Amino acid sequence: MRLFQYHRPTTVDEAVGLLTDLGDEAVVLAGGTSLMNMVKLGLAEPEQVIALRGVRELHGVDTQPSDGLTFGAMTTLREIETSALVRGTAPGLAEAAHHVATVRIRNQATVGGSLVHADPNQDLPPMLMVHDALARVTGPDGSREVPVADMFLGYFETVVGAEEILRSVRVPVPRAGMRTGYLKFLPRTRDDYSTISVAAGVTLVDGRFEDARIAIAGGGSVPVRCRAAEAALVGNGTRPDVLAGAADVVPGEIDPISDGRGTSGYKRDMARVCTERLLRRLVAEARA
Ligand SMILES: Cc1cc2nc3c(=O)[nH]c(=O)nc-3n(C[C@H](O)[C@H](O)[C@H](O)COP(=O)(O)OP(=O)(O)OC[C@H]3O[C@@H](n4cnc5c(N)ncnc54)[C@H](O)[C@@H]3O)c2cc1C
Repeated sequence: MRLFQYHRPTTVDEAVGLLTDLGDEAVVLAGGTSLMNMVKLGLAEPEQVIALRGVRELHGVDTQPSDGLTFGAMTTLREIETSALVRGTAPGLAEAAHHVATVRIRNQATVGGSLVHADPNQDLPPMLMVHDALARVTGPDGSREVPVADMFLGYFETVVGAEEILRSVRVPVPRAGMRTGYLKFLPRTRDDYSTISVAAGVTLVDGRFEDARIAIAGGGSVPVRCRAAEAALVGNGTRPDVLAGAADVVPGEIDPISDGRGTSGYKRDMARVCTERLLRRLVAEARA
């Protein structure tokens, strides 16, 4: 592991200034759970590391009645998992955060790192996509808001530029009556990344789907919103054949690779099975 210079900015402007001045050799450090592993493995060799821990404006969960929830990029996954505010407003996010690795990792790993690291098997992104969350990114030319659903370009690649910092993530006020849930399938150890996982949000009115949202992690190089499966639900009732019909559409909307967690075909099958199970669960909860 090569030695690096360690920088401790205290404001976002200072951090962006450092990124701009130091150029290609600089990286941002959040919780370090992924970055430091990559450094140890020799997959990343930064000369300059800019630690965000001391940037106070990046920490914590905020709420405004019209804006919903806003997570500073340095909010840890453990804070999301345990926050009464998150559990009350967007319980599916707390559920997804709970499924990340172990408490030790969740105490360190951050929302910003979960998005910019962009491993397609991560747990939080699909649930943020179900919530139509928006990421705020700041660089030398100012700030912009990007839908989380449009952030991912491929394996470990996002639209966040080399001189930009992900500042916060905003989860709009959820639709009235929307029920959300997360199902992670991992046949190996409990702290592993998912083989396939499904995040969903459904809104039922008079026994019919008024709205449905489904996103899959592990189904390809990026997490995917399954729009055709969603369309197969909207306007329909909650009969088992409707749920199975929507789940049947999911394998055609993903493109998983074969790897140590399973073949592509197996993952497609598990995406279908997990989607149907999660839809059944959410419908049963809505009726209870
Ligand atoms: C043993 C182990 C098991 C794991 N299991 C899971 C799992 O089951 N599910 C899961 O979802 N994840 C899992 N993870 C991954 C973990 O969630 C990620 O490592 C974490 O989300 C990254 O967050 P971090 O704060 O540690 O980021 P870091 O490691 O500090 O950074 C990761 C990347 O994001 C960039 N970055 C971080 N923050 C910002 C920002 N604000 N702006 C711009 N760039 C930024 C960094 O430069 C770096 O490239 C696991 C990790 C380990 C080590």
